[in-house]
Amino acid sequence: MAQQPKAPQANNGIEPIEGDAGGTILGPRNLAREQQAPDLLRSPLTDQGTMPNMRFSFADAHNRLSVGGWSRQVTNREMSSAITIAGVDMRLNPGSNREMHWHKEAEWAYMLKGRARVSAVDEQGRTYLDDVGEGDGWYFPSGIPHSIQALEEGCEFLLAFDDGAFSENSTFLVTDWLAHTPKDIIAANFGVSVDDLADLPPHERYIFAAPVPPSLEEQRGPSPNGAVPNTFTHHLGSMEPKTTSGGSVRIQDSSNFPASKTIAAVLVEVAPGAMRELHWHPNADEWQYYISGQARMTVFGSSATATTFDFQAGDVGTVPRAMGHYVQNTGTDKLVFLEMFRSDHYADVSLNQWLALSPRQLVQETLHLNQNMMQALDPVKQPVINRGKPGKSA
Ligand code: MN
Ligand code: MN
Repeated sequence: MAQQPKAPQANNGIEPIEGDAGGTILGPRNLAREQQAPDLLRSPLTDQGTMPNMRFSFADAHNRLSVGGWSRQVTNREMSSAITIAGVDMRLNPGSNREMHWHKEAEWAYMLKGRARVSAVDEQGRTYLDDVGEGDGWYFPSGIPHSIQALEEGCEFLLAFDDGAFSENSTFLVTDWLAHTPKDIIAANFGVSVDDLADLPPHERYIFAAPVPPSLEEQRGPSPNGAVPNTFTHHLGSMEPKTTSGGSVRIQDSSNFPASKTIAAVLVEVAPGAMRELHWHPNADEWQYYISGQARMTVFGSSATATTFDFQAGDVGTVPRAMGHYVQNTGTDKLVFLEMFRSDHYADVSLNQWLALSPRQLVQETLHLNQNMMQALDPVKQPVINRGKPGKSA
């Protein structure tokens, strides 16, 4: 008889086998993708039931290439679970412009690499002009016109909009508006002749190449109505972090960034072997963006449902409001990701803190906890923890 092929070795990869459950894959397989999502292929036996997809990679999103850069988006068209927030990853080459525009949704941003200059004018004619670098970002309220221009290094940034149905291809562009307004109306509006409008672009420009702008001071124009009352730019990456045993969090919402009335954001760093503790958010869905490292997250959806997803740099994750979850660093490098919420404030409920602060008898009777476990309960909330190696039960 012929020797049995050794499937796992032959595939140099994982097989959907967990204990006595499962079996090898005999049909077609996409090993590269399976290796990126081992917890989908070989789901923990605690996973169960039907849950929406909660992971999508920007690598799987259409990329819109322009002379000057590119943009790709992950919205509720890519992920049905992304209801409250849509994300855009945008690259601008040195000097390139994301042209002057506005949109219904508010826009929050985080600079991933490089530097940019942002400008805005609000409904009272108050101005804003500032430069941002890596770890900085901005918030433009709903409907406020703005622009982004890369400085000499060029840049790439993440944009988060406070509506999952947002589309980067449906913003209001100043060129597009004027290209679709009768020329005599434009002339009458500005008090010029139609001949003066000969060079108006015939269609939208969106992202276009341009020279690197001069210094902030050189570029700053008149501002008879003053600056906007609340700064539109933030420095999330250089905020003082709240550090705990397994890493740190930097929490930003309208309490420390007053302009941001609809987006709360947390920059989370998780050391190898550590995890973002079991918790949920009482006030909003969570939208995540993974900046570096590797992670896995199990989302508990009530009614005995739970699904585990794996993440790496460039991935988007979602957690519907109130669903319990953790985020574990599964790699050998530091895990860095953003949690974002459509809310004016950040809030989470810690499982550990809840149990620690509930009547002991009640907790013990409910969960049958032994003395070790009762003593381990921690009344102090620790968002990112390393309490020793998490191990699988035998
Ligand atoms: Mn915008
Ligand atoms: Mn969370």
